[in-house]
Amino acid sequence: MTVMTQAPARPQSGSTFESLNPATGEVVGTHPVQTAEEVQAAVARAREEAAWWGGLSFGERKTHLNAWKTSMTQRLPELAELMRLEMGKPVGDAMLEAGLAMEHVSWAAGHAGRVLGRRRVSPGLMMVNQSASVAFKPLGVVGVIGPWNYPVFTPLGSVAYALAAGNAVVFKPSEHTPGVGAWMVQAFQDAVGRPVLQLVTGLGATGAALCRAGVDKVAFTGSTATGKKVMAACAETLTPVVIEAGGKDSVIVDADADVEAAADAALWGACSNAGQTCIGVERVYVHEKVYDEFLSTITAKAAVLRADRDGKIGPITMPSQVGVIRSHVQDALDHGGRAVVGGIDAVGERFVQPTILVDVPEDSLAVQEETFGPTMTIAKVRTMDEAIEKTNATRYGLGNTVFSKVNGMAIAERVRSGMSAVNGVISFAGIPSLPFGGVGDSGFGRIHGPEGLKEFTYAKAIARQRFKPMINLTSFDRTAKADKQLAQVIGLLHGRAKKR
Ligand code: NAD
Repeated sequence: MTVMTQAPARPQSGSTFESLNPATGEVVGTHPVQTAEEVQAAVARAREEAAWWGGLSFGERKTHLNAWKTSMTQRLPELAELMRLEMGKPVGDAMLEAGLAMEHVSWAAGHAGRVLGRRRVSPGLMMVNQSASVAFKPLGVVGVIGPWNYPVFTPLGSVAYALAAGNAVVFKPSEHTPGVGAWMVQAFQDAVGRPVLQLVTGLGATGAALCRAGVDKVAFTGSTATGKKVMAACAETLTPVVIEAGGKDSVIVDADADVEAAADAALWGACSNAGQTCIGVERVYVHEKVYDEFLSTITAKAAVLRADRDGKIGPITMPSQVGVIRSHVQDALDHGGRAVVGGIDAVGERFVQPTILVDVPEDSLAVQEETFGPTMTIAKVRTMDEAIEKTNATRYGLGNTVFSKVNGMAIAERVRSGMSAVNGVISFAGIPSLPFGGVGDSGFGRIHGPEGLKEFTYAKAIARQRFKPMINLTSFDRTAKADKQLAQVIGLLHGRAKKR
């Protein structure tokens, strides 16, 4: 099968692009648009570094990664200010994001040896003469393509885990946050003194070039639409991919929930980061017994929340997203929905005010597609079965939140998503030992946790003969008698019906 992909226009050598402050439109920085040749050169340099880095012990890599983490942590306010300038989030939120990212660097560095180092496994009765073991080896060079909405936390979820597993990394940050990407790569160079982590900057075409540059894996985080292009480009060279894509997460509020806490969490989950969170809250399903109380609590809280230059909610980072948010709100209103907070007039040029929509049909854009703004739909449900069914009725399956005193775990188990938080919101993302990723249109593969370390490795199995077997199975000298004995052994092991 031939996979046809539309390659973005080839960048010209020497051309540049600007990152802009989304609150003001002012230029924050100018960065090179790197060509396919420049991307290949970065991958070649990374491959040389991979030989050195991959040859270090887990302990040595841990020391280097912790030095990088410490140097970033000591300059966190500087990083947070740069995040605010390029992406628009309030400095407090930027500090929280970067601080959580440091937890992940630390965890990945500290756990790689235990998770990936060689360990013995049982050889089974038929191969009892063997010593069996498995280790997880670095792939070589990993290409990481990042988004802008969490420009530190999200890419480091791939970068730190890939590095801790022994790979060199070529990182392409989003064109909206190249300065933040460059800052982290420079901090690595300063701390470690070798370019194991390389930077390439540019628009989509530079990302596409990275997919085709001979890397051993691509870790992509971004929209589902771009994820499909990345996968198609990687298919040309059988380059494996991790796709961390969009979401349409719900909050489910049960009849016995702490309504005040649920309303607080739903509002923060929907509106923090101006709603530009892959695991942000976009839909809420509330049991009819507590629906009125929930709605009045959340509307009171939302009414005093403002998006502005110095507020708790920043601007919409990508100007094009404002149009998407407006179209979702308009579609909801056109199909019988009502705005109990905000509405179509809440969608400004750079800032969008919190918007709560009710009575929105389940097949409308605001319920089915990723809005990526400080908006949410709230719907009344008769049972938790109905809430789960509606939650599971989108193409996405990234995260989810459940508020319930008694049945939180049972409800969460039935939600088709990579992650759920019970009686808290997006808490799973801050726990480094938990894997992070989705199903369906939210992508596949995992970052974070042991799974996130293994994602950037290949399993290397070794069977070592400890003593000669009773029956030599893998020889042309095997006799008819041996075949008979073998049949008896198989019969004994697997041929008897097990008692219930
Ligand atoms: P995007 O898809 O527009 O861009 C992501 C990255 O891909 C950018 O660096 C971009 O330059 C690059 N790119 C664009 N075209 C490319 C191509 N043809 N080949 C290779 N790379 C290409 O996404 P975005 O707007 O930066 O990010 C927002 C999206 O990311 C949302 O959908 C959000 O839900 C998702 N996201 C997901 C997670 C997660 O972990 N699942 C985390 C954060 C954001």
